Amino acid sequence: MNQLIIGITGGIGSGKTAVSNRFQALGITIADADLAARAVVQPGSKLLSDIAAKFGQNILTDTGELNRPKLRGIIFADNDARRFLERATHGPIMDQLRSELATATSPYAMLVLSAGTGRNPLINRMLVVDAPIELQQSRVLARDGSTLETINQIIDAQPARHERLALADDIIENIGSEQALDDKVAALHQFYLDLNHHD
Ligand code: ATP
Repeated sequence: MNQLIIGITGGIGSGKTAVSNRFQALGITIADADLAARAVVQPGSKLLSDIAAKFGQNILTDTGELNRPKLRGIIFADNDARRFLERATHGPIMDQLRSELATATSPYAMLVLSAGTGRNPLINRMLVVDAPIELQQSRVLARDGSTLETINQIIDAQPARHERLALADDIIENIGSEQALDDKVAALHQFYLDLNHHD
């Protein structure tokens, strides 16, 4: 696959979704690693039955879906369980993303990665959406009513801002208005089109 695939990462509330929505509106195909991770464990999937065989049927909800909070609790306390889950899910998630990206008809495609846990082999460039911590906090407070304490716990569990920025080929500093973000995305879109054209 010699397609240009740009990863998008950034801390909670930095504006990954705001940015990826704008690229999507410009016609760019967007895949999302978190959504793929949910898709591969849908009821009826082989992976979900493997997980239920390992952890017991009570890892499923009444409606047969994966009980994610329960699974999170188990793997938090049990490294072997965590390794089993990572090994079992890695291949299906990558296959899912590969097939979504392979069907992209846009000049380049993008892959939204959660807060940035290293370089995904599917991407050949990384875009980091960046904002100061105070702005991350105020945006998430306004968006979903989480407490500041919860937001700070998530920020602390994510890679540090400087670690994320160290992975960046491109950076969108999302510190201004919605209009300013539109302009930054439009400029970067043109840059990616040119890059693709010259490759
Ligand atoms: P998460 O990691 O939690 O999914 P995210 O990085 O995807 O967060 P968004 O959901 O895109 O972040 O942005 C967080 C909130 O801030 C949203 O409500 C969004 O509409 C708002 N927001 C993002 N950028 C701007 C901006 N430049 N101006 C005003 N509001 C913004």
